Parts: sequence; structure tokens; C-alpha cells
Amino acid sequence: MNHETKPVSPATALAALRPSACPGLVRVVAARDGGLCRIRLPGGVLSAARVHALADAASAHATGVLELTNRANVQIRGVRVGEEAALSAALIGAGLGPTGIDAASPLERACAADELRNVMLSPLAGVDPNSLCNTAAIAAELIDMMQREARFASLSPKFALQLDGGERMAMLEHPHDVWLAALPHGATVRFAVGLAGCPTTRPIGTLAAEDIRASMRALLHAFLDLADSDATRMRDVLAAHSLDALLQRAQAHGDFALMRDDAALHAWRREPSPADLRLGAHALHADGSGYVGAQPALGRIDAHTLRALAALAEDSGDATLRVTPWQGLLLPNVSAHAMAATLERLHALGLIVSRADPLARLIACTGSAGCAKSRADTKADAQRLAALLPPDTEAHLSGCERSCAAAHCAPFTLLASDPDHYDLYQRDDTQSGFGQRFGQPVARNLTIEAAALALAQRPRSTQDV
Ligand code: SF4
Repeated sequence: MNHETKPVSPATALAALRPSACPGLVRVVAARDGGLCRIRLPGGVLSAARVHALADAASAHATGVLELTNRANVQIRGVRVGEEAALSAALIGAGLGPTGIDAASPLERACAADELRNVMLSPLAGVDPNSLCNTAAIAAELIDMMQREARFASLSPKFALQLDGGERMAMLEHPHDVWLAALPHGATVRFAVGLAGCPTTRPIGTLAAEDIRASMRALLHAFLDLADSDATRMRDVLAAHSLDALLQRAQAHGDFALMRDDAALHAWRREPSPADLRLGAHALHADGSGYVGAQPALGRIDAHTLRALAALAEDSGDATLRVTPWQGLLLPNVSAHAMAATLERLHALGLIVSRADPLARLIACTGSAGCAKSRADTKADAQRLAALLPPDTEAHLSGCERSCAAAHCAPFTLLASDPDHYDLYQRDDTQSGFGQRFGQPVARNLTIEAAALALAQRPRSTQDV
């Protein structure tokens, strides 16, 4: 009798260790258009060499279609059945997996640590002279801390942190489980800390930069102490326990240095950054050098365009790209004399470089072409809506209530009700964006043409009513 057992694949082992439907580097999740593989990019940073590797892997093992996500990650769509492991191996081999922790192999390391890299930074982290600090080093320390401690492997793959260094462009509307935002504090900098929200909401206290690693470690232990099996996010724990109970538990884990100092909190950042900073050429330094931002229509990009972008980053910038949380990208460190030509080349590649383009103001989830849950082909409908979209209007098309394309509440949301109709919602600007899913319902059962008309007739802000 043969007692040999079949070896368990890393993806199967990961599914048993940490069940989740969230795609990752090793966890390639089935979708209607093939497998979906998400590559987490702390800070959204990609070297040109890794951009080439991503494009090659997407062409070799999938359909060559990629997406930029609203958490500044990249995902490869249409992974062919049976090629999942080869894709993961190619990406890990290109250095797109976790680094720095001990593991028998890079694949084991990816299984253990890939999903503990959800730290969002400004796309200008480390390059904006206006910022109060460079958050990249702090992010690296936090990721290292989470990956080294076995207990933190039980954090949900969705559990996410944000670090705001005070850069002129930052996504401040996505809720995170924990956010930290730099504040001027005399001659130094402290970090406002908030839970289950975003840096436009009120913080709970402040931390010195040197206390962040130890204090966050204590806070994460406290979170796991209090989280029951259904509580995967900070909001779940705070719904079941008081903030004081959570903070007392963190104190018990030692080195928890949060100061609940109201005086330091008056300066916390409240305003989202201007949308026009996301696209086009922007000087950051007195010599006119800076960055150039662009976005592919509706977040989709093909491998061929990606390779051309890598070449452009090598020619014009510092051979890196940064993915932004607006499903776009930017080339940092472009010299003053190269700005205009870089912008032209991005435009020639078919990327959007101006807010005047209606597709710069539309986001849409995957839709029924790639997602079985979708009630409509949102991407195709967004293309149709683009031709009719009123100037200055921003809208989000979602195939179902999950809102995969937007972690924040967009000014207008069209929620599919059937393959040809949408319900229209408008954000309530008199309330904090956090906690509003889509805003208030304002019209039901609209065709795309009727939705365009309704958008043209609505005031842009509910405060204008
Ligand atoms: S929002 Fe719904 S329909 Fe759209 S991609 Fe997500 S799950 Fe699918």
C-alpha cells in the first residue's frame, strides 16, 4: 500500500493557515475572467526593472491585463488555470515579494509575510520637500515589526495602516485600521494617531516618531487580544469594546507611549489634497524639477504600455514609478527640462494627464466582464458615461454594494440595479466622508443616458443645495 501523501501547494497551505478571499502574491483568486493576483507595493514604489518583470509575468502567465488599485497596489488579471504557481514564483523571483525576514525560501516568506504589507503612504513620500518627514523608513520598520512576530500572521489580509508625512498630495479619505499623520510640534514632529478612520477625522492622541514601532506593536497585540473570531478590523473591536479598554490593554503590553494631548491635536490635517495634483507636471523644487502624474483609463493597463512606462522612467526620471491610490501613477524626480516631454510621452501612450479628460473623473469596479457579483458591465458603462459626463463631475460606478473600486465615498455613485440601470447616490458633504458608503440616494433605475442628465442637473456639492 502506498502511504505517500501529495505535497501541499503553498497556496493551499496559506488558505488553511489564513482563510481569505483576498487576492495576494501566492493566493491567486478565481474571477470570471481568470485568476486574480495582487502584488502589494508598500508606498506604491516600483523600480523600472520590476515593472518589466510584472509586464513579462502578466504576458507569460495571464492575459497581459493589469490594474492599479485604490490602495496603490497592482493586480494581474486573467491568470491562466494551472499557471498560478509559476506566476507567483516569477514575481517573487523578481523581488516583488516580502524581504528581510528569515524563511527557508522566498516562497515560504511570501506565504508568511505578503499580507502584512498593507501600509499606505503618500505617492510623494520622500520626494516632497514640503513634507514634515520621510515616512518610508517608518513604514519599513512597521512592516518588519509585523512580519517578525508570529502572532501578527493572524491579522486579516485587509488590515491596513496609513502613514501621512504631511506631503502636499496624499489620500486622506480612505479609512484605515490605524492611521498616523505627522504634526509639527515645536522644533520636532509628532504623529497624530487615529483608529478605524482616516486623517481627516479626529485622532485619539499623538506619538513621537521614535515610539511608533513599539507602540504600534502594543496596539496590535491589544487589538488581537480583544478581537473575537468575527472581528477582523479595528472598527469591529471598537464596536464591541470601548477605546479606553483597548488603550488599557495596549498599556499592558508595555512601551505604549500614546499621549492623549489635546494641545498637539489642533494642527491635525483635515483637508483632502487638491485633485489637480494627481495629473500633469508639478515642480517640487526651486530648480523646477518634480514629478509627472498620469492615469490609465479606469485603472486598467496592458503589459505593453507598462513596459513603455518603465522605459520612460529610465529615460526621464529616476528609473522608478509610483502607483497612486487614485489608480494612477507618477514618475518622480523628473528634471525641469524633461517635464514637458515626459508629459507628452505619457499622453502618447494613451494615459490620461489632465482632469479635463472625463475619464480622469470616473472610476469603475471590474464589472460583469470580470466579476460574477456584478449586476452590470461597469467598465463599459463608464466609457459610455465619459462621453456624456458634465464638466467637473466625479462619479464612481459600482457593480454591487461592495464598492471595490472606491474605499472612500465619491461625490456621486452609480450603483448597478440591473444590467442596464443604476441607482444614483450623492455624498453628503455636511458629514464626514468616513462612514458614508455611497451617500444619499437621489434617483433610481437610471440608464446611463438618464444618469448623465441627472448628474448635470444636480448641484456639485450637497452644501450648494
Ligand atoms: S464592487 Fe461588487 S461587482 Fe464590483 S468588482 Fe467588487 S464585488 Fe464585483
